[in-house]
Amino acid sequence: MEVLILPFSIMKNNCAIFPGSFDPITKGHVNIVNRALKIFDNIIIAIGANKTKEHMFSIHDRIKMINIVFKDNPRVTIKSYNGLTVQFCENNNIRTIIRGIRNHLDVEYEKNIALANNTMNKNIETIYFDSSKEYQFLSSSIVKDIIRHKGSLENFLPNNVINYINSI
Ligand code: ADP
Repeated sequence: MEVLILPFSIMKNNCAIFPGSFDPITKGHVNIVNRALKIFDNIIIAIGANKTKEHMFSIHDRIKMINIVFKDNPRVTIKSYNGLTVQFCENNNIRTIIRGIRNHLDVEYEKNIALANNTMNKNIETIYFDSSKEYQFLSSSIVKDIIRHKGSLENFLPNNVINYINSI
């Protein structure tokens, strides 16, 4: 029987970044991270700090909410970054970007970003996860609308994230 021994350089790179706004982190995001952990040893959830979008939660609160969800999982780390995602990958020796796909609009949007990133650095690839059926409609924007109108969040956010939001 042949045994395949992976060189250390490959094993070390079995780490992927999941970049996004996470404003706030939803059950859809959590689902993607948990599924990605079946493939990657380590996931860095990275909050892009210089996005032009209007945010409801500060970077501090967004990090706190993600930390509440994954604090007991040493394979998940949380960072924020300024600048391009590709630059963050280069600085942290990461070659894989994870993104989630909910519908055809996401496909078009994500494809262009992935192509641009790969054009800037040929070593960096993007891997997409199809949204699980139950979260296909779910976005942070919908959640923010529900928060603004004081609707029920329990189907959309982990309970401890709801508690955090209620405490600020
Ligand atoms: P961004 O501003 O970069 O789009 P988001 O936090 O909105 O940041 O999304 C981060 C990533 O998570 C994106 O790839 C997005 O498509 C994905 N995502 C968001 N919600 C879901 C969901 N319900 N199911 C699967 N993927 C999702």
